Amino acid sequence: MRQLKLDQGRRETVLPTTNKKHLPKSCVYCSTTQNLTVEHAPPKLIFPKPRPNDLITVPACEDCNQQGSKDAEYFRLCLAMNPFTKDAPSVVSLKPTIQQSLQRPQATGFLTALLTSLKPDGDDFQLTVDMGRIHLVVRRIVQCLYLHETGTSLPVQTHESRVLSIESLGRMEADRPQKLRDDIITPLMQEPINLYADNQFAYWVTHTNVPFVSAWALLFYGRLPFIGFTGKKVKDPE
Ligand SMILES: [Zn+2]
Repeated sequence: MRQLKLDQGRRETVLPTTNKKHLPKSCVYCSTTQNLTVEHAPPKLIFPKPRPNDLITVPACEDCNQQGSKDAEYFRLCLAMNPFTKDAPSVVSLKPTIQQSLQRPQATGFLTALLTSLKPDGDDFQLTVDMGRIHLVVRRIVQCLYLHETGTSLPVQTHESRVLSIESLGRMEADRPQKLRDDIITPLMQEPINLYADNQFAYWVTHTNVPFVSAWALLFYGRLPFIGFTGKKVKDPE
């Protein structure tokens, strides 16, 4: 992310050889070849039924797939409460499903966690969103999209995906959002849009000439944007 210069060398990209139809037969997250399942990116539960038939899928092992499912459910709940997305038609149609899932006996721990994160806001309650958990979901999506786009998994020992949301943009030093806009977002928006899930999900991507370094813009329901990156692992937390 630090050395990302998207306006340089974009046309002589060494990555990727787009090969969407021949994905490797290994887990996108841990590269095992055992117990492979179909992973949806974004998670399919954020789309109401009947689900669109153009969802992006990549292989993931059962363990990794399972690991993400609780976070994906949390992500869906936050979408239903997020001021940007709560009135989006897809989210409105999801609400009965969300209510049902909260009534399952297994949801007790989930509900406790949720209730402790609600804080009074006048006569109303406001949900304190665990952004770390949301970012985890979006980072997984970026990892899947990377494989979908390039036909190659990110080497997870050395590389990772990272995510910025509107909230994290607000916390940046004064000059950084402008720099981010000039260096990353503006070039990204000149790339072709990739629309999926009956237009409920869109992404843009720019690859650099550095292997595995790319920038992403993700848009959920035409309303909620995230900026993502792939690159070498960095030690400092977000
Ligand atoms: Zn795995």
